[in-house]
Amino acid sequence: MIYRSTRSHGHEVTAAQAIVQGLAPDGGLFVPKEFPAAFTPAGLQELFALPYQELAKSILERFLPDYSSQQLEAIVQGAYGSQWDDDRITPLTTEKAGSHYLELFHGPTLAFKDVALQCLPRLMKTALANSADQRGIVILTATSGDTGTAAMRGFQALEKTRVIVFYPYQGVAPIQLKQMLSENSANTVAVAVEGNFDQAQSRVKQIFNDPDMNSLLAQHDLTFSSANSMNIGRLLPQVVYYFAAYGQLLDQGAIKPGDPVNFSVPTGNFGDILAGYYAKKLGLPVGRLICASNKNNVLTDFFKTGKYDKKRDFYVTNSPSMDILVSSNLERLLFDLCQDPDLVKSLMEQLTSKGEYQLPEEMRAKLDGFWADYATPEEIEGEIKRVHQESGYVIDPHTAVASLAAKHFKEQVAAPGPTVVLSTASPFKFPETVYHAISGQAVKEKGLPALKQLTDLVGSLPPAMEAFLGRSSQEIVIPA
Ligand SMILES: *Cc1c(COP(=O)(O)O)cnc(C)c1O
Repeated sequence: MIYRSTRSHGHEVTAAQAIVQGLAPDGGLFVPKEFPAAFTPAGLQELFALPYQELAKSILERFLPDYSSQQLEAIVQGAYGSQWDDDRITPLTTEKAGSHYLELFHGPTLAFKDVALQCLPRLMKTALANSADQRGIVILTATSGDTGTAAMRGFQALEKTRVIVFYPYQGVAPIQLKQMLSENSANTVAVAVEGNFDQAQSRVKQIFNDPDMNSLLAQHDLTFSSANSMNIGRLLPQVVYYFAAYGQLLDQGAIKPGDPVNFSVPTGNFGDILAGYYAKKLGLPVGRLICASNKNNVLTDFFKTGKYDKKRDFYVTNSPSMDILVSSNLERLLFDLCQDPDLVKSLMEQLTSKGEYQLPEEMRAKLDGFWADYATPEEIEGEIKRVHQESGYVIDPHTAVASLAAKHFKEQVAAPGPTVVLSTASPFKFPETVYHAISGQAVKEKGLPALKQLTDLVGSLPPAMEAFLGRSSQEIVIPA
C-alpha cells in the first residue's frame, strides 16, 4: 500500500517509509493513497471475537502490508502486554447511570497516548530494520502534556533513537510535569519552551523542514522523525479501540450487530477523533462522531460554520492536553473530503498567512457525520461533579468535556444508538481540578499534596503513578 502527502503529488512512499519520516517533505501529512477496503458484516463479527492484540493486528495489517505477519504479531504482543493494568487494554465502563466510558488510560503512563506510543516505536524499529536503514532517529515532539511522557516511555532505551520533547513552560499540569521530568533518561529529554503549545508545535515543524538542520543530522548519520499524531504510525493504532468498544457493547448486550454507536471524543490535535473516522471508513457502524473541545473552541466553530479561524485568544484551561488552536490532523480529514492536494495546500497556506480559511460548500456538506460542542472550565468542573454524584464514577477534566458534549448531544439530537465517551486520562493526573470539582474546595497545595488529598477523597492511587512520585525533576527552559 502506498502513502502520499496531503499537500502535493509526487511524495509517494511505503507505509514503513511514512512511519520513519513522520511528515512529508512538503509539510503535508501522509495518508493512504487508497483507503483499505471496509470489513464485511461477517468480517466484523470475527473481529469482535478477538483479543485486543489480535484485533490490533487485523486492523494494522490492512494499513501496513509491508510488515510481515510475524513482525506485526511481535509488535502487537509487545505493545499491548503486561505493562497494561487491564487485559482488555481499553476497558469499557458503564457507570450506574448508564453512560459508557471507554477507558484509554490503563497503559504505563496512565494516558491514552500510550495506546499509540507503545506501538509506534516498535513500528519504527521494524521499519528501519526492513529497509536496512542504518541511520539513527531523532524524534522531535511538541506536547501539551501527555504525549511527552508517553513518547519518552515508549522510546526509552530503544537503540539508535533519541527523543526531544518540547512542552509549553507553565502550560502543563503539575502532575503531568512531574511525570514527564521523571522520564528523562539517557536517550530522552523534555525541554520547556516559553510559549504555548501551538508555538512549540509550529517550531517543531520548522525544524523538521529546515535544510541546514537536516544536513547537520545527515552528517551524523541521523534523521528526524515525529512521534506526534502527525505520524501515521501513531494514528493507526488508535483506530483499534473504536472496534474494541463496539465489541464490548455487543458483549454487554447493549447493542445488536450492525447498530450504530456514537462516540464523543475530547479533541485537541484531532488525532483521536480522526481514528474514529477511519474506523467508520473501515466499516464499523459508527453513527455520529462528537468533536468535543474546551474553551479553545476553534473546532466547534469550524463544524458549525465551515470556517476555521485561529485568530482568537488562547486559553490555558483545566484540560491542558486540549489547549490547541491548530489541530494538525484536521488536514487529513480535509484531504479525505476533497482528495485534492492543491486545495489542501491552499487552505493550509491561508491558515498560515491569514490565520483562517473557509471550506468550499461541497466539502462542508460532507461534514454531517460530525457533531461539535465545547465546555468552559466551569462546565468541566460541573460535569465531573454531576457524574460523581450520580454514579460515584470519577472522570478527569478532558473526559468531562466529552461527557458533557455527549449529554448535550443526547438532549439535542435524535440520533439512534448509544454514545460512548472516550476517557483519555486518569483523574489522578489532574487532582487540583478534580478535587475542587467534587468537594467544592481548593486543594491545599498543587501537585503531589493535591494528589494525596484526592486519593483520600475518592480512593486509591493507580500503582503506575506511585512509581514516579519520588524522582527528582529539573526543568530546562528555552525561549520560544
Ligand atoms: C492528547 C489528548 C487529548 C486530545 O487528543 P487528540 O488526538 O490530540 O485530539 C485529549 N485528552 C487527553 C488527556 C490527551 O492527552
